[in-house]
Amino acid sequence: MRLILLGPPGAGKGTQAARLVEKFGIPQLSTGDMLRAAVKAGTPVGLQAKAVMEAGGLVSDEIVVGIIAGRIQEADASKGFILDGFPRTVAQAEALDRMLNEKAMQLDAVVELKVDENALLSRIEKRAAETIAAGGTVRADDNPEAFKTRLEAYRAQTAPVSAYYASKGELTVVDGMQPIEVVSAALDQALPG
Ligand code: ADP
Repeated sequence: MRLILLGPPGAGKGTQAARLVEKFGIPQLSTGDMLRAAVKAGTPVGLQAKAVMEAGGLVSDEIVVGIIAGRIQEADASKGFILDGFPRTVAQAEALDRMLNEKAMQLDAVVELKVDENALLSRIEKRAAETIAAGGTVRADDNPEAFKTRLEAYRAQTAPVSAYYASKGELTVVDGMQPIEVVSAALDQALPG
């Protein structure tokens, strides 16, 4: 199963990806998580990505395409993967197409979780509050100012990715405003097998 989850920050991609990891036994490849790990480890990629991520902007296509190209070749991804947070630009989607073509691999589904913009900020605020309550550290970009930039990046650069897959007849849209179990059921219906 090779699946792409699309949707704005706070749409619920991470929640659904975690469930599908269990269901299909395939890894969730979250470029956000990988980049945060790189920042934490202070790698060259992390050093380049840190400021732009904290401000809510997009890391360069070159960096994220490089990360994903390496990651999908690892052994645990041989049976499939769930892409979460990638592709985030049409250039990334085109690069992914090239990578998959080279390996004669195909996508099984591209699903967009559609959520009202008005609901997103409160979801992000809730996530931050829950993280604090659990004694964790809030993401540097989970604040209203960076969130505004993330939403703008989504509108300008990531929304066209949905159109890209829709034009190829590959996009399924799921209403992400429904309760989690209902979203889960709708998503399962959109997936083969
Ligand atoms: P979100 O909650 O917005 O889905 P993520 O955890 O997916 O956040 O990503 C956090 C940040 O990491 C993004 O705002 C961006 O700076 C960077 N990032 C993640 N994936 C990509 C990507 N595919 N292209 C460019 N930047 C990315």
